[in-house]
Amino acid sequence: METDTITAISTPMGEGAIAIVRLSGPQAVSISAALFQGKDLNEVDSHTMHYGKIIDPETGEMAEEVMVSVMRAPKTFTREDIVEINCHGGLVSVNRVLEIVLASGARLAEPGEFTKRAFLNGRIDLSQAEAVMDLIRAKTDRAMNVALKQMDGRLSKLIQELRQKLLETLAHVEVNIDYPEYDDVEEMSHEMMKEKTREVHEEVTKLLETARQGKILREGLGTAIIGRPNVGKSSLMNALVHENKAIVTEIPGTTRDVIEEYVNVRGVPLRLIDTAGIRETEDIVEKIGVERSRQVLKEADLILFVLNYGDELNDEDEKLFEAISDMNVIVIVNKMDLEPKLDIERVKELAGDHPVISTALVKEEGIDQLEEAIANTFFEGELDSGDMTYVSNVRHVQLLKQAKQALEDAQNGMEMGVPLDVVQIDVTRTWEILGEIVGDTVHESLIDQLFSQFCLGK
Ligand code: GDP
Repeated sequence: METDTITAISTPMGEGAIAIVRLSGPQAVSISAALFQGKDLNEVDSHTMHYGKIIDPETGEMAEEVMVSVMRAPKTFTREDIVEINCHGGLVSVNRVLEIVLASGARLAEPGEFTKRAFLNGRIDLSQAEAVMDLIRAKTDRAMNVALKQMDGRLSKLIQELRQKLLETLAHVEVNIDYPEYDDVEEMSHEMMKEKTREVHEEVTKLLETARQGKILREGLGTAIIGRPNVGKSSLMNALVHENKAIVTEIPGTTRDVIEEYVNVRGVPLRLIDTAGIRETEDIVEKIGVERSRQVLKEADLILFVLNYGDELNDEDEKLFEAISDMNVIVIVNKMDLEPKLDIERVKELAGDHPVISTALVKEEGIDQLEEAIANTFFEGELDSGDMTYVSNVRHVQLLKQAKQALEDAQNGMEMGVPLDVVQIDVTRTWEILGEIVGDTVHESLIDQLFSQFCLGK
């Protein structure tokens, strides 16, 4: 198949010390060599870097002073020839180099096309490609680690092992069907099929159990700070933001721009959701009733419910307690420096199993304990679970759920005495579904769609 040579700016748009124009494809080296004043790039060793100038062939003028890396196939990210032109940062110069490269025969890459080529050329599998995307979007160190491990092929390896297990069993059954003369063999393969589907089911279930944490690592833990006016909600938010580096992301919405703030609390990314909105509707329960407010609060993964130690509990507090009873809540008794008026025993009773933390935010007291409570709620003591394989990708979660269902169909069939050659259909289906995770059995349209989500130049 004839492949063309693609190019794009591979560093983020904006000011920076350097910016890189990347080329990949059979003509990557010859196109660059024709523009480059310095060593003859056609002759240099692979994986070397060279100083020189980019000359605009139209005008014969120097466009940019550059360092050029030449990497020849197959030991490259795309398994094609790759050239990276390191330009001075700044949009003007890098765009100029890109234009010259485009005018010299390269085509502008589509978003994700470099990674897509890496996938199509067998350099990485689909879940690894998706990890590249996660890596670009990762908002915390921990999320980045998860993505790095996935890129490393951890999830793929596990999935392939499960598929192998299923395949061996299927092969075994196949042999028995072809040689039916040994009548005890049917019984044996029945047992084996039961055993293997049970094993795979267990692994798939385990993986799915990591999905919640995986999603949190990936998207941040939607956190709402609630409580009556003046209890210290803004102070709490400021404390969290100041103690932990906040990452502000603007997400263009359809009706308005929501600014979300991320803070990284001991490796748990908190996404402080629409706190402005919640602050405006402080009497949220009063205004819209318990049912509706429960709905609004449901969108949060974690509720930080702030009370004032220097004030008595009132009806509104009790209603809020009621509204959030079955959610993840940390109760914060703030203003511990004030004269006690709050019935702390009653608060503990209302809080039930939820942790109750005391703070005096003006004095910066209790923030450590609060952070520990936040971390505990979500990692339940396994904070160092950096070694786990997390599933965090929505597509993977969907496929794992389907695989689990197919395995259960197979198991139920066996319970009911369905013949093995029929059970085999469900097991084969499981094998195929798992294959979609790593990209062995996916449709081309899905691949196009997945890669189009990448940013340009990746
Ligand atoms: P919000 O209305 O719930 O967002 O509350 P704010 O964070 O705006 O705080 C209301 C007032 O309480 C401000 O004047 C804060 O300085 C004060 N405040 C916050 N935390 C404490 C605390 O621990 N002790 C005392 N005494 N005052 C506090």
